[in-house]
Amino acid sequence: MNYPDDAPASQQIYARARHVLPGGNTRTTVYMKPFPLYAVRGEGCRVWDADGAERIDCINNFTAMIHGYCHPKVDEAVRKQLALGTCFGMPTESEIELAEILCERLAGVDQVRFTNSGTEAVMMALKAARAFTGREKIAKVEGAYHGSYDYAEVSLDSAPANWGDSAPTSTPYAKGTPTGVLDDVVVLPFNNTELTERLLREQAGQLAAVLVDPMPNRAGLVPATAEYMACLARVAKETGTLLIFDEVISLRLGYHGAQGIWGVKPDLTTLGKIIGGGYPIGAVGGREEVMAVFDPTSGKPALPHGGTFSANPISMRAGIASLRLLDKPAFERLEAIGNRVRQGIDAAFERLGIPGRTTGRGSLLKVHFTNNAVVDYRSAYQNADTAKLLATFNLGLLNRGVLAASYGLMALSTSMSDADIDQVIAAAEGALHDVVQSLETAQAV
Ligand code: PMP
Repeated sequence: MNYPDDAPASQQIYARARHVLPGGNTRTTVYMKPFPLYAVRGEGCRVWDADGAERIDCINNFTAMIHGYCHPKVDEAVRKQLALGTCFGMPTESEIELAEILCERLAGVDQVRFTNSGTEAVMMALKAARAFTGREKIAKVEGAYHGSYDYAEVSLDSAPANWGDSAPTSTPYAKGTPTGVLDDVVVLPFNNTELTERLLREQAGQLAAVLVDPMPNRAGLVPATAEYMACLARVAKETGTLLIFDEVISLRLGYHGAQGIWGVKPDLTTLGKIIGGGYPIGAVGGREEVMAVFDPTSGKPALPHGGTFSANPISMRAGIASLRLLDKPAFERLEAIGNRVRQGIDAAFERLGIPGRTTGRGSLLKVHFTNNAVVDYRSAYQNADTAKLLATFNLGLLNRGVLAASYGLMALSTSMSDADIDQVIAAAEGALHDVVQSLETAQAV
């Protein structure tokens, strides 16, 4: 199958989409030039598109589908709830059950508040931190993605032109970001302990929270060093700033989340994706004293929060089933297949003699076309040349039956067999051959 030539059905659907969706698109992350491939069906780790092409899915809806598609246990839980009603203007017991699982697994989570997306979870966590501390500013890592809340997306695509020699600056991601938002966000250099500590201390007394993803996907998918994380926890504690772990993706890394791996107990944790078993969800959890900002029992809470579909029992039931399947052996398996794919791709890079390697841990990995140390957003930043190589690699994967996110992220699922993993590694090696060929062609010109 050769994209785009062999995908006339998707091309036709896209032409129709252009009439009613801006640019034919309703989700920037799934846009593809000249047109996206439209999904028709998924089962296990495979997805079929509108032209009937079958692929192994390493996007897994941007890490959400940790068991792949149509897991019988998740489907059964949803079917049972469907027969009982999909959502009510009343609470259901299902929200308690999912909250109990999260509180039991995550050291920093005594109580939980459900939302409909990770974006909303991050927004509510930042608002909760402001309500609790009475402070207005927040600190976040340069280039780290936390969804679409104005404050959370500051500096997301910070570019070399505004890097300078000193601390990162607050750059807007979207047109129309209010200046007030930029003024209230302090941007931190990931894994740079000294400068981060200085910035946090300079703002002490004004910062409500420091928001961190322990392995920020868009900032290179490199784990925070133990030293960096310890610095954030220590300085946050000493300055009365709340530490927020964004575990919307990193919960995937272990049974006790990233906070279990790093041995840090954040004040607040944001969750999403896998806790909904394939249905819309988000959650903010944290220590009881902070979560009290949501408590309505003594009148209007410090932070009122509703949401028509928050804690809807379909998402709750799917999430419960999905997390029950994610027991400790499931995490061990995810770790093992992640290691195999990383090692397989790294070995192929070495054999072919082209600069590059993987980053990531557990079931997550990313390919970088550089031999330089990748430690943060700036060292992972793609220039025009490396971006071209990644595009060639991704196209090579696609045409060999493997889906990866356009920015290089691959997320594995429990539904992948050893043979599926072999297929992913073989496709990656083939795609790297395409990269070698493109480099040779460029040299010959
Ligand atoms: N935080 C992180 C770390 C994420 O990766 C994402 C989404 N990819 C979000 C928050 C936002 O979640 P959602 O897409 O559910 O709004």
